[in-house]
Amino acid sequence: MTSLKIPYKTPRDMRSDEIVAFLQTLEKASPNAQTELHYTDHFSLLVAVVLSAQTTDVSVNKVTPALFARAPTPEAMVALGEEGVAACIRTIGLWRAKARHVVMLSRQLLTQYGGDVPQTREALESLAGVGRKTANVVLNVAFGQPTLPVDTHIFRLSNRSGLGRGRSVRTVEKALEERIPDAMKHASHHAMILHGRYVCKARQPECWRCVVREICLFPDKVMFCKETSAQNRGTKEEIRSKKSKRK
Ligand code: SF4
Repeated sequence: MTSLKIPYKTPRDMRSDEIVAFLQTLEKASPNAQTELHYTDHFSLLVAVVLSAQTTDVSVNKVTPALFARAPTPEAMVALGEEGVAACIRTIGLWRAKARHVVMLSRQLLTQYGGDVPQTREALESLAGVGRKTANVVLNVAFGQPTLPVDTHIFRLSNRSGLGRGRSVRTVEKALEERIPDAMKHASHHAMILHGRYVCKARQPECWRCVVREICLFPDKVMFCKETSAQNRGTKEEIRSKKSKRK
C-alpha cells in the first residue's frame, strides 16, 4: 500500500456524533450533489470514470460527447477501435492507455457480461483499466451501493477534518467505511467530493466560508481570505496616499 505525504497537521479522530453532524451539514448545503461527469447510462458512466483517472471531470466532459456520439455501446466502441477512441480523447492525460483500456473493457463486457456493466466489485475490477476506486464510483453512482470511493478531495478533507485519517487512500477508505453509518455513505460521497473540490481546497482551505467549520477539527483553519485582505490593504494604502496628497 503506497503511503502519501500529508503536508498538514491532522487532528484527533472525530466522534460518531460529530461525524453525523458534519455529514448532515454538508448534505444540507449540497442537497443534490452528484458526479460532475456527464453520462447517460451505466456503460457511458463506466467509460467516463475510466477516462477521469488523473484528469479533471471538466476535461473528460469535453471529450466524451464526440466519443459517445460515435460509440454509445460496447459493440460500437469495439468497432471504433483503439485508434478511433484515441482520436476522440487525445486532449486528456494518459489517452493512449485509456483508449486501449476502453476498447478492451468493452470487449470484456460483450464476451463475459452480455454487454452489461456488472454489479459486483470483483467483476468490475476484472475489467481493463478498472481499479478499486473506479469500481467504487460505479457501484455507488450506477447501483446506489454504500461504497466510499476515496479520491484526492475526500482524502484531503478526511485527514484535515478528522473524519477518517490515514496516509494511504485504502486506509482512509477503510476508516470512512467503519466510521460513517451505512445509511449516510451513498449520499455523503458526492457532498464530500464537492466540498473538497470547491471549499476545502488543496492549496488553501477556505474555512472562513465553510459550513462545517464549527465541527471540523483541523488545527490550522484559515479564517480569512488572504486575497481579499491583500486587496483591502492595497485599498487602505491608496486611501492613505490620497490623504497625504491632500495635505
Ligand atoms: S473548516 Fe477548513 S479544513 Fe475544515 S472542512 Fe472546512 S475548509 Fe476544510
